[in-house]
Amino acid sequence: MDAGAVTFPRRSTRRITVGQVPVGDGAPITVQSMTTTKTADVDATLQQIYALAASGCDIVRCTCNDLAAAEGLARIVPRSPIPVIADIHHQYKMALAALEAGVQGLRLNPGNIRKPEHIKAVAAEARDRNVPIRIGVNGGSLDPALYEKYGGTVTPEAMVESAMTEIAYFDEVGFDLIKISVKASNVPLMIEAYRQLAEATDHPLHLGVTEAGPLPGGYIKATAGIATLLAEGIGDTIRYSLTADPVEEAKAGRLLLESYGLRERKNVDLIACPSCGRAEIDVIAVAEAAQLAFAGKELPLQVAVMGCVVNGPGEARDADIGIAAGRHRGHLFVKGINVAVVPEDEMVDTLVEWAEFIAEHGAEAALARVDTEKARREAEKDRAALLEEQGDDANASEQRVDLIHKRFES
Ligand code: SF4
Repeated sequence: MDAGAVTFPRRSTRRITVGQVPVGDGAPITVQSMTTTKTADVDATLQQIYALAASGCDIVRCTCNDLAAAEGLARIVPRSPIPVIADIHHQYKMALAALEAGVQGLRLNPGNIRKPEHIKAVAAEARDRNVPIRIGVNGGSLDPALYEKYGGTVTPEAMVESAMTEIAYFDEVGFDLIKISVKASNVPLMIEAYRQLAEATDHPLHLGVTEAGPLPGGYIKATAGIATLLAEGIGDTIRYSLTADPVEEAKAGRLLLESYGLRERKNVDLIACPSCGRAEIDVIAVAEAAQLAFAGKELPLQVAVMGCVVNGPGEARDADIGIAAGRHRGHLFVKGINVAVVPEDEMVDTLVEWAEFIAEHGAEAALARVDTEKARREAEKDRAALLEEQGDDANASEQRVDLIHKRFES
């Protein structure tokens, strides 16, 4: 099977829309994040929302924790480039105020707003305004009654019951524009809770590992939880909860979805070999320079940086464009075909220039603009010279194996 054709079948869910953004029922999986500014500070919040949108965020959440925040939302929502969800804890009146402000979605924490009449008042108002609500169960703020019922510990069953109880209140007022999350900072707990929830309901699910923490551990924990579920077909929208600039959350979410083939590639996918004894350049330094050079350029291409011309072009033949080092020269290849040989210190600039050309005109046009046969001969010359100098075993593995044998034979 062609690698590009491998996909994960998705669980079928209902569809809601958050503003103009569809969620569930096969819609592209969306990336969410949350602003860290005071919502009352309209300019600072909008600035962050624009930065998030530019980094791949589809839906943004802002806290609505007091009257000034609700007033801020009334000014932010009409100027935001992406739908705004109000995050509500404890005060159900803040949910009503946020709806009045015109938000495109609400997030309620069932552990914090527990009176049925309050929950139903919010759901009825949201129903009348056609505004969806996320039931955001959080392992750390589970309803104390459920905590007790399940033996004084947070279990997947308790989290799912919390969500299902909230759905039942919503049902009573005929409201079903729902998505649900059952987040926990413990990754196995979170995974199991979502698996059980996916069995229990067909509402769309919002995935996240809550309080994943600072980088790089936060990336690992969030990815471990979210990616596992996505590979099982579970999840309609995602959020990385990192202790970092929210732009990093948006970028991480976007990258995960692109790497899973669940969203179209927007930016360069930079691949690079891990380097080994054959490397003819400092692969890490060149890959970092390339990453920097491509930052901010919207080129939906896979770009390869390979440490040697012996194996590089072959191993990265599926990349749209790549460069491999050999004898102080950079061998540029497009779809595995050599197109140019440049001095080592021009490798990255050349890579960027060709990538921009391919993004605009296509790989065929790029191949047509040079004498590929000449480039192939040049690459072959360097490749042959390197093989001659290093043999097929640049890491000297076979010599080591011989030495090991000699030790045992002596
Ligand atoms: S053989 Fe070449 S391309 Fe492969 S890891 Fe080593 S340096 Fe990189």
